[in-house]
Amino acid sequence: MNCPYCGSETNEDALVCAACSRDIAVPSTLIAERDELLRKREALRDELKRRRSDIETIIRRRKSR
Ligand SMILES: [Zn+2]
Repeated sequence: MNCPYCGSETNEDALVCAACSRDIAVPSTLIAERDELLRKREALRDELKRRRSDIETIIRRRKSR
């Protein structure tokens, strides 16, 4: 079995990778789900950034009136 994070060889029953110390007892379905959630989080951060700059633009326009 190889560590899904760093690719190092690990023991079959190891809970933690000896090379990178990450938790490898997690099933790969959960790892995929986590990656998906991380992607969504990044997308939401981008969205938030855009909305914030929209709001700042609106506020600036109101002040200049
Ligand atoms: Zn590892």
